[in-house]
Amino acid sequence: MSDLKLCQGPDCHTYHTQDRLKGMKGSKTYQTRRRSSFYYGQGNFCSMNCYNDWFNKFGEQAINHFGRTTEPKHLTEDNAWQKTWDWNGGYDNRTYVYRNGITKEQRPLTESQYNDDNYTLNT
Ligand SMILES: [Zn+2]
Repeated sequence: MSDLKLCQGPDCHTYHTQDRLKGMKGSKTYQTRRRSSFYYGQGNFCSMNCYNDWFNKFGEQAINHFGRTTEPKHLTEDNAWQKTWDWNGGYDNRTYVYRNGITKEQRPLTESQYNDDNYTLNT
């Protein structure tokens, strides 16, 4: 039982659901959900609600702690290549291409290059 995880939502225990209501008659309490796995927030939250509660309470501190973005980031021509399809020949004759989102240049791409996550023209 020790590998059960607790939902990290700060208000998880305040939601009135039957599965959260635990204890003996007369001393029942709503409790933070405890499960072997959760779907949300990389396995830390039982619901989107709890995930959002966490961010509403701690998000500002977390951003400040890990580094707030204070300047716009730039995607340059060198890194603006995206794998896509060329639809000029219609759906059946589509070809795989690399398209540069800034220069609009297109370069041919094989299907295996398209599917290879390590293959990139970005520098
Ligand atoms: Zn929760």
